[in-house]
Amino acid sequence: MRAPLQQIETSGELPQSADAVVIGGGIVGVFAAYYLARRGLKVALVEKGRIGAEQSSRNWGWCRQQNRDARELPMATRSLDLWEHFAAESGEDTGFRRCGLLYLSNDEAELAGWARWRDFARTAGVTTHMLDSAEASERGRGTGRSWKGGVFSPTDGTADPSRAAPAVARAILALGGTVHQNCAARGIETEGGRLSGVVTEHGTIRTKMAVMAGGAWASSFCHQFGFRFPQASVRSSILSVSPGAEGLPDALHTARISATRRGDGGYTLAISGRGRVDVTPQQLRFSAQFVPMFLKRWRSLAPGGLQGMRSGHETLRRWQLDRPTPMERMRILDPSPDQATIRLTHARALELLPALRQTRISAAWAGYIDSTPDGVPAIGEIYGVPGFFLAAGFSGHGFGIGPGAGHLVADLVTGSEPIVDATSYDPRRFDASAWGKVADF
Ligand SMILES: Cc1cc2nc3c(=O)[nH]c(=O)nc-3n(C[C@H](O)[C@H](O)[C@H](O)COP(=O)(O)OP(=O)(O)OC[C@H]3O[C@@H](n4cnc5c(N)ncnc54)[C@H](O)[C@@H]3O)c2cc1C
Repeated sequence: MRAPLQQIETSGELPQSADAVVIGGGIVGVFAAYYLARRGLKVALVEKGRIGAEQSSRNWGWCRQQNRDARELPMATRSLDLWEHFAAESGEDTGFRRCGLLYLSNDEAELAGWARWRDFARTAGVTTHMLDSAEASERGRGTGRSWKGGVFSPTDGTADPSRAAPAVARAILALGGTVHQNCAARGIETEGGRLSGVVTEHGTIRTKMAVMAGGAWASSFCHQFGFRFPQASVRSSILSVSPGAEGLPDALHTARISATRRGDGGYTLAISGRGRVDVTPQQLRFSAQFVPMFLKRWRSLAPGGLQGMRSGHETLRRWQLDRPTPMERMRILDPSPDQATIRLTHARALELLPALRQTRISAAWAGYIDSTPDGVPAIGEIYGVPGFFLAAGFSGHGFGIGPGAGHLVADLVTGSEPIVDATSYDPRRFDASAWGKVADF
């Protein structure tokens, strides 16, 4: 019962050299490779498993500005335009639609927080509508109850996680780039201190530019050459139901449950923010740096088990470049969903949205959400290894901002004007503590 995902055929033989190599075929890696290929670079993307098979197919599909932290809002706004442009310029369908997102609440403090965000968003030119009780109850009529208030963000939307990353990978191929599945990058080579190649399980690609967009695997990869990237993941469990429920909002958030209409007419159901923390060596290594984040989020987190140890993505072990690595043993990080959360989510959804009683559970899955200490991604050149760039730690927001993040990576790699100010994403900020800097929403 994995998350649904389109399978795609990709390139055969690995090139001996490339202008740029992208490691990781999640939404961030595919968009980075796409924007590099559009600039005429010879690009090779290597993915240890299947394109999109980790976080990028396991999420809700929300592409939102609503409630974004100030450091991410400009990228979220640009990304919404890029989702639209991508469809127009490539002819590929990611399922993106500006359907608007609906937030409903009966909690005065929550409504006041949304109103404060609306005032801030205005200063950034972002439109969002606070709903009074009558408007919220009308928009939320599928719940059959009245609400104190809410928010509708008309310019936000959703894309289809089962189609988006494969669609972008096809567009890379159409531009002459190569995409290699079942091809793990084991490490990098340097010459005179600069990046000179990416070593994969199928051979080395000579290149002066590479991007590590490996999601939850980025820190253990960087650990191999001594770069400290504080990253920790949380296991989030969600489910989907079959088509059959009509009259519901396309994308609805409440404190108890969130529901998102899928491309096939079914719904993805989840409890926002809820997750389990599976202890790993990496979690322990960076635990002090994550205290501010933990203090902000602990109410939604619960202790997990030993799955994270077994899957190997947060190992502190150093591996050899001529032997199989943990990435080849775990082609697709596919943690087991927490069954208690799945049952609770389903029960709450049926109670809140009676139309869902016409449907049945079609799948349930979990994903490891990779986070940084401040909840903002790391995007930038890795100091000490010129030519090697990091784009990871998307902290539960990376699907929606994938196009903007990929574009920014391509800007940095090619030395072009960045699409947004990159300062807030600089990986060097992790040398300081995250106290007072954890993203609000
Ligand atoms: C349950 C859930 C709900 C979410 N909801 C949303 C949402 O609604 N909106 C939103 O914006 N975000 C959401 N997110 C977060 C979002 O899915 C992620 O932030 C985003 O997909 C991260 O993309 P990525 O490309 O960085 O990583 P991933 O999608 O995890 O991709 C990384 C890829 O790199 C590959 N890889 C790793 N190491 C190597 C290597 N050495 N060699 C080759 N390949 C390698 C992996 O196999 C993987 O395919 C959610 C996440 C989850 C789990």
